[in-house]
Amino acid sequence: MKRMNIVVAGNSFAGFTAAIELKRLVGYDHEVIVIGKSPYFVFVPSLIWYPFGLRKEDDIMFDVRGPMSRMDIKFIEAEIVRFDPFEKQVWLHEEYLPYDYLVIATGFKPDFESVPGSGPGKFSHCISDLDCAREARRAWSEYVKKGGPMVIGNAPNAANYAAGYEFLFNVRYQLAKESNLKDSTVNFVTSEPYLGHLGIGGGMRFRETAEKLLENYSIPFDVDTAITEVLPEKVVLENGKVIESKFTMIVPGVVGSDAVRNSQSVGNERGFIETNDEYRHHEFPEIYAAGIAVQIENPDDAEPGCSLPRTSYPTEMMARTAAWNIFADIFGKEKMSLPFSDINAYEAIDAENQGTMLIGAHMLSPRGFDVIIPGPQAHWAKIAHERYFMLSRSMGII
Ligand SMILES: Cc1cc2nc3c(=O)[nH]c(=O)nc-3n(C[C@H](O)[C@H](O)[C@H](O)COP(=O)(O)OP(=O)(O)OC[C@H]3O[C@@H](n4cnc5c(N)ncnc54)[C@H](O)[C@@H]3O)c2cc1C
Repeated sequence: MKRMNIVVAGNSFAGFTAAIELKRLVGYDHEVIVIGKSPYFVFVPSLIWYPFGLRKEDDIMFDVRGPMSRMDIKFIEAEIVRFDPFEKQVWLHEEYLPYDYLVIATGFKPDFESVPGSGPGKFSHCISDLDCAREARRAWSEYVKKGGPMVIGNAPNAANYAAGYEFLFNVRYQLAKESNLKDSTVNFVTSEPYLGHLGIGGGMRFRETAEKLLENYSIPFDVDTAITEVLPEKVVLENGKVIESKFTMIVPGVVGSDAVRNSQSVGNERGFIETNDEYRHHEFPEIYAAGIAVQIENPDDAEPGCSLPRTSYPTEMMARTAAWNIFADIFGKEKMSLPFSDINAYEAIDAENQGTMLIGAHMLSPRGFDVIIPGPQAHWAKIAHERYFMLSRSMGII
């Protein structure tokens, strides 16, 4: 059998999982190569704590080269400029890599352009990656010296609305803890149609919990509205309000990675990849995709601008499915199909010393079994997940 060259683009939740699973399945007779901008895996869910000094960088990142080389996976540190699906090539700046199979796991790019004044170096912060979070940490350490009103927001098409709630509740906890911040206020703004919708329709009764929490903490909020602009110390909303803010954090909307957007016929107009339920590209059968890079259709009754949650569990399930299907292609086995709506819904929403766990048999309605469990155990579940994830993945166990 010909030695297959399998290239995985990206080394975060989707790329790392796909590469390890692929190597386990195809063995040493086939090559698995991972290309990533940085050799470090960052556990993004813990960035909600990073700006407050609650995590060090070493706590939430590891070098993927160790576990990958132990498994005979080649890692190339480089920026992918574009994919050429016609010639089956991945282009780096000056050279290209040929592939027999390709898994695109290049995730998302924050869409700062749709909210003028937002993003790094401008007037609001974000925690979508470590660079943004470092800037948010510096701004937070300045903010705590003076205090004042704040805005925490979820922009339309955010990949994970829960992150906005987690950051909000962690901010509230910090305000309650610091005596000089007792008079500071935090406002919450979200594009969701109502509190606790989370992009999945709120069917898990998180709405009631979120409303109660914001009422108990006396947090003013605006729902069903977009942030249209961020100005120095001001946030302008689509509903006409202008809110004063000395520290602003917005979970941004997302578009696909530049590498996909620069490639002909690979992604759609927003830079996401359209696949079938095997996570195989609609047009090019040797291309698979996993994680946020994949276009997931909102259900018919979804509210405009309110995107589905794109969390790590479904990301890893898509990556495993894509890996299996490449293995099945090569070895003539039966393919696996996993519609996104059938994936289990798991989420622990942290509120520093407490939180809420959401568990559902399916991501989308009809969800069958679903339950929410509020209480301090959600905070501990989130920490346990972080510790288990960091330990297992840094050892190459997925
Ligand atoms: C603040 C925040 C909190 C979150 N909290 C949770 C949570 O509590 N629980 C949960 O399950 N999920 C959470 N998520 C979602 C979770 O982080 C995502 O599901 C996950 O990151 C998706 O992984 P991915 O591999 O698809 O994409 P990404 O994480 O976006 O990774 C893409 C990878 O591709 C690389 N890449 C991109 N372009 C190129 C290029 N041109 N060349 C080379 N490499 C490239 C990037 O460097 C990166 O390594 C949170 C997200 C955020 C932003």
